[in-house]
Amino acid sequence: LGEIVLDVRSATVTYGGLRAVDNVDVQVRGGEIVGLIGPNGAGKTTLLDAISGFVPYEGSIMVSGVAIDDAAPHVRARSGLGRSWQSADLFRDLTVRENLLIASAPKADLFTLLEPVRLGAVGAGSEAIDATLARFGLEETAHRRPSELSLGRQKLVSIARALVAAPSVVLLDEPMAGLDDRMSKRLLNDINNIAGTGAAVLVIDHDTDF
Ligand code: ATP
Repeated sequence: LGEIVLDVRSATVTYGGLRAVDNVDVQVRGGEIVGLIGPNGAGKTTLLDAISGFVPYEGSIMVSGVAIDDAAPHVRARSGLGRSWQSADLFRDLTVRENLLIASAPKADLFTLLEPVRLGAVGAGSEAIDATLARFGLEETAHRRPSELSLGRQKLVSIARALVAAPSVVLLDEPMAGLDDRMSKRLLNDINNIAGTGAAVLVIDHDTDF
């Protein structure tokens, strides 16, 4: 295994009087896959929200030795933090390909970022997008909207979107839920591959076999 890539120190998140995440320390090395398990409501998703910058927290979070605490979610994403959501959470008005395009666009402000999507042009990350679509068997659905896909496929798109920019930290929230056997085998293989490239993977799942 490599160096510590994701370093969470004493992370605490409170919602009003509720301590959803209480003094959590997690270190994930490059090439390592760490599983986060616990009952519903234990605070697993909230920890991912803190790491990806969607909720305020106390404590400190470092990626490759750099503190990211002051960075907004999109800045964290651009600096190599990829995340998938429990309920896919795709952009409904964009096609599958455009959902990946948004996540793979080079550093830019939001308007520049949206431009190529509106024009239907392909960005610099075109090859990476095609390769990722192929890896997940999503080529045929590239020009469909999320609502036209099964929930399982929407999950795959969400995971593909998290991985398309070759992140150094990958956060996956129950990736296996809603996938059939064939899709979950494929995904397992893919998660192993991404760790094999040196990424630090933190994954929540209730399927302990996985
Ligand atoms: P699950 O397996 O059901 O996804 P979890 O371990 O991911 O559960 P969280 O979703 O992180 O748990 O929730 C932790 C606690 O924080 C729960 O008690 C939940 O009700 C509460 N909580 C989560 N999000 C919010 C929010 N935005 N505002 C207030 N309370 C919240």
